[in-house]
Amino acid sequence: MGCNGSKTCETTKNSTCNCGSDKCPHCKHNKDKNIVLYVLGGPGSGKGTQCAKLKEKFGFIHISTGDLLREEQNKDTELAKEIKAVLESGALVSSEILVKLIDEKLNTLKGQKVLLDGFPRNEENINAWNSIIKDKVPKPLVLYFNCSEETMHKRLIGRSQTSGRSDDNEEAIRQRLKVFSAHTVPVVEKYKKENMLIEIACESGPEEVFELTEKHLKERHIV
Ligand code: ADP
Repeated sequence: MGCNGSKTCETTKNSTCNCGSDKCPHCKHNKDKNIVLYVLGGPGSGKGTQCAKLKEKFGFIHISTGDLLREEQNKDTELAKEIKAVLESGALVSSEILVKLIDEKLNTLKGQKVLLDGFPRNEENINAWNSIIKDKVPKPLVLYFNCSEETMHKRLIGRSQTSGRSDDNEEAIRQRLKVFSAHTVPVVEKYKKENMLIEIACESGPEEVFELTEKHLKERHIV
């Protein structure tokens, strides 16, 4: 059995974990495989800000699914048009399209700690991951930024003045919050039951939330 990065794992106290499980992010046999942390949180929860801080302080590779899709929509292709329309509406993009983009990105990395920000947001995302990427990386842990809907709404309205994002308008914001509670909250619940969740309260300011995040990751020997 792999240690799976749990708090109680003795092997995580040094870098020579030898459990042999491909699900263990610490095992020396997995040293060339990327360690992936899924990062979840509603729109406006501040997960992007925390990922940027983690990247700066601990050298994580930060892959934001929203940024991946925004990059892709600027290309001159049919796929770009399709993605653009979905992003503007605040709905979710097809999992197959997104997971292929993630796979391409992960294939360029080796043995790195990766924050996958904004994934998985629904059951379809999970299924696409399982069929395309699952066997290439140790089992991810999930960093969840838990925030009230009221706070997220307030932050998004504030950000809409300056972000220039096509989905930072009242209608798309409402839709994104709705999609989050209908599709992503059940995913969060599932990971909670499976003991894969690192949950962080994020009502307070970015510095305070970062302190908490760092503390939780240190407890799990991830940083
Ligand atoms: P936010 O978290 O504020 O909604 P993001 O930049 O993370 O902002 O995502 C913007 C949009 O990108 C989403 O509304 C959705 O259309 C698309 N998107 C991001 N992640 C996913 C995903 N995992 N599955 C499907 N669509 C996604």
